[in-house]
Formats: sequence, C-alpha cells, structure tokens
Amino acid sequence: MELDRPTRPLLTYGTYPALAFVTAATLWFAVRWDLDRNAVIGALTAVTIVAVLLVERVNPLQDRWSMTKASLLGRDLPFIGLAVVVEQFATAGVSLIAAAAVPHNGFGPLGRTPLLAQAAFALVGLDLLWYGYHRAAHTISRLWRVHGVHHAPSQLYVLMHQVFHPFDLLVSRFAISLIVFKLTGISPDAAFIAIAVLGLQQTVSHVNSDVRVGKLNYVLIGTETHRYHHAAQVRGNYSSVVTIWDIVFGTFVYEPRCVPDALGLADPGSFPDPRRFHAALAWPFRRAGTV
Ligand SMILES: [Zn+2]
Ligand SMILES: [Zn+2]
Repeated sequence: MELDRPTRPLLTYGTYPALAFVTAATLWFAVRWDLDRNAVIGALTAVTIVAVLLVERVNPLQDRWSMTKASLLGRDLPFIGLAVVVEQFATAGVSLIAAAAVPHNGFGPLGRTPLLAQAAFALVGLDLLWYGYHRAAHTISRLWRVHGVHHAPSQLYVLMHQVFHPFDLLVSRFAISLIVFKLTGISPDAAFIAIAVLGLQQTVSHVNSDVRVGKLNYVLIGTETHRYHHAAQVRGNYSSVVTIWDIVFGTFVYEPRCVPDALGLADPGSFPDPRRFHAALAWPFRRAGTV
C-alpha cells in the first residue's frame, strides 16, 4: 500500500518531534535537579503511551491494525501484566549482581567520556547484542517459538510493544541490560538517558498512525521502519533503537510511503494464538507440530 499526502499533517510530522522534545526536556530536568530516576522513567512512559494512544485514535493508519476490546483484554493485558512482573525481577537481579560486582558511579575509560557519548555507546552496544539475539530468534526454531509471540498478531498498535514472551524480556531486560548498563562502566545517568530513549523508540515503533520522520529513519528505528519487521514476510530491521547494525549487516529496509499489506505470520496456523495465553507461553517447551 502506498501512502498519499497526510490527511493530518500536524500529527504526521509533529508527533515524533513533540515526543522527542518532551523526553529530552524531562531528561535534562531530571539530571539537572536530581529527580528520582525510576519515577521519571515511569512518568515518561505513561505520558508517551497516553499521547500515542490519542494519536492512534484520531489518525489511525490502518483500521484493521487497531486495538479491539478482545485483543486488549484477551491478549495485551495478560502480557503487559507479565511483562511488568518480569521487568521488576530482572531489574532487581541486575542491581543485585552489579552491586556485588562493580562500582556504582561509572568506571573505566567509558565512565570518563561525556554523558551523551556514554548514552550513545550504550544504545549502539545494546542494539548490537539485541540484533544478534533477534536474528537468531528468527532462524532457530526453538527461539522462534519464543519470539513468535510478538509476531503472531496481525495487528500493530502501541500496546503491542509489551507483547513478548518472558524469555525475550529476560534476554533484553536482564542479560543485555546487565552487560551494557552495568559492566561497561557507563554512569547511572548515561544508563538513565539510554533507557528513556530506548523506551521512546520501542513505543513509537508500534504506533498505528501515519507518523513520519524523514531522513531520521536512517538513524533511528521507529514507526516507519519497524512495521516492515512485523510484515507477514519479515523484511529485516532487527534493531530496536539505532539502524546502524541493520545497515552494516544488510537488513535495513526503508521505502518511504510504502506500507506492508499484511502483518503477522506468513502461516498463522503454525503458532498458537497469543490470546491463548498459557498455550503461547508453553509453546517453546512443546514438541514440534503440536499447535
Ligand atoms: Zn522479530
Ligand atoms: Zn515489534
């Protein structure tokens, strides 16, 4: 499907700059006035999600991709609840291990570089590790049974950024977070900035709206590029924040104004419907061919 001129250009071209400005200003205030970092991340997440839910409501890209009462209650809320619990445990585990193993306030050569350089390094490093795991999850059948939960829906809207199997969350929130945010020596403020940017990009990547950012698509993964990754015939874009690894490894896809016709799985019968919550969670542990 080809996109025409936007029907609501203010929302199409203004949504991302507005969200990025609010995020940047909030981060600046938080560091400047030493606000509680967890509270700030929580508030930013809530504001961003509410804002893009409104944008999706006013200016949906595809009605058939939209959230329904059945998808919200039957699939999204159970997975969101599980994600919150897994993230709490993962974050506590990362903090415990880091407290026992490394200094708290940054160390080594990276800890002495400017704050934004540390945050950029963290995002690039994080995405390299995620890229490697993510490509493996699309090629190794047992890992695909884990990661396919995120791809099984034929819709795409903001709350889907939380629809993941807990194993995927443990890889990203525990293993990768521990390595990148705690063992590289970057400061807690750099990790705080990187986590906020990661949250913003992962949220806008799943927005069902005609949001456009032009040439920024060649730097950051977002609304216009992540939807190719949700196409029924997956077409690359395995990174979650920066495009560099998709560009380096030849998997970057960006065709301005072109939208995939079908999302979800090429063979929907090969995977349990994620609305069957327990079946989707158990699927990686079942024998082959027992949907
Ligand atoms: Zn994927
Ligand atoms: Zn996604």
